[in-house]
Amino acid sequence: EAKSLGKGRHVIYHERMDHRTAEQSRVAADLRGALDTDQLHLLYQPIVEMPGGELFGVEALIRWTHPQRGPIGPGLFIPAAERTGLIVPLGAWILEEACRQAVRWRQEMGDAAPRTVTVNVSARQLREAGFAGEVDAVLQRTGLPASVLTVEVTETAVFDGGTALDELKAIAALGVKIALDDFGTGHSSLGLLRTCPADILKVDKSFVDDVTENGEPAVIVAALLTISEGMRLRAVAEGVETAAQAAELHRLGYRYAQGYHYARPMPAEAINAYRPAGDGHRVAA
Ligand code: C2E
Ligand code: MG
Ligand code: MG
Ligand code: MG
Repeated sequence: EAKSLGKGRHVIYHERMDHRTAEQSRVAADLRGALDTDQLHLLYQPIVEMPGGELFGVEALIRWTHPQRGPIGPGLFIPAAERTGLIVPLGAWILEEACRQAVRWRQEMGDAAPRTVTVNVSARQLREAGFAGEVDAVLQRTGLPASVLTVEVTETAVFDGGTALDELKAIAALGVKIALDDFGTGHSSLGLLRTCPADILKVDKSFVDDVTENGEPAVIVAALLTISEGMRLRAVAEGVETAAQAAELHRLGYRYAQGYHYARPMPAEAINAYRPAGDGHRVAA
């Protein structure tokens, strides 16, 4: 399905590549080939409601199975794709694939379908003139209601300057939800909330990791919820791995979470079969 990618698109390979390592160049070169074959697919990780763990939404996460090297994580190849500009056609494929899948779930699951399908968008895509128009075109082509799509960006991407913020505002004007990813780890944080049309704030895993220890991370996690509530944002705790973390987040007032404690990223069909574990986050007495 990734077949037609790259064709008829203008992928510009920047010249500023001299500082890249040989490893990264190899990855970038191979990724170019992966676009024309079937080596890329999306997994979907549930975003759940606490305490029960019911499905609220999903986040689409790209996976690459290299024919020789096996699975390569996005942490390695997304930065390479950003540097080469390949993220533009790759990101367009990801967006369309996730929207098509969202429509499929709505047909197959009805009211139980994920209420939002989240797609990560990189700074490089957001800088592309007309990106909002492309989002609109994908919604038209797939028939997905705009309100079901969430575009997830990092603070740094929005703060990138240029037209990124305008593009984001145009996407929000379509009715698409905006989530701020890895919140609290970037540069601009609080000021950004006043200018950026955000709907969802994703509290970074690094704060969630130590939330049970009653130190600074717990204070930050609590403060971010207060800010979210005051600004009518949905706060989602990222990277929840343990029952104790889930219990503490719920105690603090969090309603939405994502993490291995609830569910790992999974193939689309597994979302159809997703059921909460049943014991919620409760710590055994
Ligand atoms: P992210 O957007 O913050 O996504 C969350 C990452 O945390 C995912 O890693 C997910 O698998 C992982 N994760 C979720 N729950 C847990 C947990 O409980 N514990 C731990 N240790 N990890 C957890 P993944 O899939 O390897 O993606 C890494 C990053 O690569 C993403 O961070 C995102 O920045 C980027 N990425 C992934 N897919 C895409 C994509 O389709 N487009 C773009 N532009 N970037 C993507
Ligand atoms: Mg994300
Ligand atoms: Mg994240
Ligand atoms: Mg994160």
